[in-house]
Amino acid sequence: MSDVKILESVQQFIARHHGHFIHGECVATETSERIELVNPATEHVIASIATADQQDVEKAVQSAHNAFSNAWANTSPYERGLKLNKLADLVEQHAEELAQLETLTTGKLINLSRHLEVAQSIIFLRYFAGWATKINGQTMQPSIPSMHGEKYSAYTVRQPVGVVAGIVPWNFSLMIGIWKIGSALTTGCTIVLKPSEFTTLSLLRLAELAIEAGIPAGVINVVTGKGETGQYLIDSALVKKVSFTGSVPTGIAIGQQAMKNDLTRVSLELGGKNAAAILADVNIDEILPNLLQATFVHQGQVCAAPERFFIHQSKYDEFVQKASAVVQQLKIGSPLDEMTMFGPLSNRPHFEKVKHYLDLAQRNNQVITGGNALQTTGYFVEPTLLKVQGIDDPLFLEETFGPVVDVIAFETDEELITMMNHSRFGLTASVWTNDLAKAMRLIPQIEAGSIWVNMHTFLDPAVPFGGVKASGVGREFSDA
Ligand code: NAD
Repeated sequence: MSDVKILESVQQFIARHHGHFIHGECVATETSERIELVNPATEHVIASIATADQQDVEKAVQSAHNAFSNAWANTSPYERGLKLNKLADLVEQHAEELAQLETLTTGKLINLSRHLEVAQSIIFLRYFAGWATKINGQTMQPSIPSMHGEKYSAYTVRQPVGVVAGIVPWNFSLMIGIWKIGSALTTGCTIVLKPSEFTTLSLLRLAELAIEAGIPAGVINVVTGKGETGQYLIDSALVKKVSFTGSVPTGIAIGQQAMKNDLTRVSLELGGKNAAAILADVNIDEILPNLLQATFVHQGQVCAAPERFFIHQSKYDEFVQKASAVVQQLKIGSPLDEMTMFGPLSNRPHFEKVKHYLDLAQRNNQVITGGNALQTTGYFVEPTLLKVQGIDDPLFLEETFGPVVDVIAFETDEELITMMNHSRFGLTASVWTNDLAKAMRLIPQIEAGSIWVNMHTFLDPAVPFGGVKASGVGREFSDA
């Protein structure tokens, strides 16, 4: 068992002096504060990135605006689709390089970076490419007569809004960046991306590949930095839409800021405290592998993953015993080792946040299995199952965004629905049962944007995705 060899191209890219990516080139910034990027498995600093100030951001937005007006908005839909497809081809050709960059900065298992982050990003890009030639308005037949009773018709035209600000979190930086690029570019918009300050490298590399794909300079710009850089972007008068993915508090602040700026359009993909309901009829052995994989993938740092398991009383003891046994067998280790099943959390602040919840559970004697941070280098914690102290327990209510899952018994369907919906969030949920009629009765009662049956955390570009309640505003993918 050993780590995969880091490609020379990855080593060379990491070693560069990184700036922002504006109008087709890396714009070095010598003077600004730099942010260190840390490998979460080793705690070694592997690179540093620049912090974009207001001037840098304005330069990027102006370049994206010029590219919108002078080039991209006038490109034929066919050509836009071709270029997005070409970018998908290049991502495929550079798949291992991009996967390694993701693993080095996020601690994501290398196989997950390869088969989920990069491979699915390619599928999403090609899906968005296909939309370019299929975006049409409608013709309507009004009923209300004109002044003299003539018949008339009306039509709509779908037009690109202009420059989009795409603000991206750290958990799936490449993939979420690609969601934003794909939907902006296929509709004729240009984009300025602001990746997370923890995981910036893969999107800087992607922007270079976009130039190689023939996407004109300025259509995709990348400014790097923390939240302040994102605020400058939202405040820019030339930004016509903000597409944000991240936490609820940041999303609310961004929504308010965008509204103040002459109602800049905004879509918000935010956090969740997602529920999985395991009904009385299931065979626990059959559902456990898929349920636990969906739960602990990327150490639970997946917005759509479940953090609350509701188990029918009749199956509770069996579930706890069998789930604990599986969780304890997850091999924790280096994310670059293909045999590892469970890696580190992605960054120190997040590690501290998850530790806070684990300490709380330890203090109150709530741990079923796991519950510890490892006494080793790297941001490693054990995958954890917990009991909760009622539905007002912070561990029941607050998103940990980590491998920390509540296990709760229920007796009646009414009790199940009440507890599932007792949350400010409403991103995803799942129902595990062989009783399809019952599942169909429960689904409309569950407050969540996506609800799966006998699966969880499957996103597909053809299916709209987004939250209800505090989990967000707007939808991504499909024609949403
Ligand atoms: P975050 O809200 O801390 O940061 C997200 C991005 O916003 C980062 O690029 C950050 O630099 C930037 N930012 C921070 N403050 C800002 C401000 N005031 N103005 C503009 N930009 C600002 O989130 P995170 O910790 O990076 O990501 C984890 C969160 O994201 C979790 O809550 C998770 O559930 C959520 N998430 C949601 C989805 C979804 O599709 N619904 C997907 C992935 C992650």
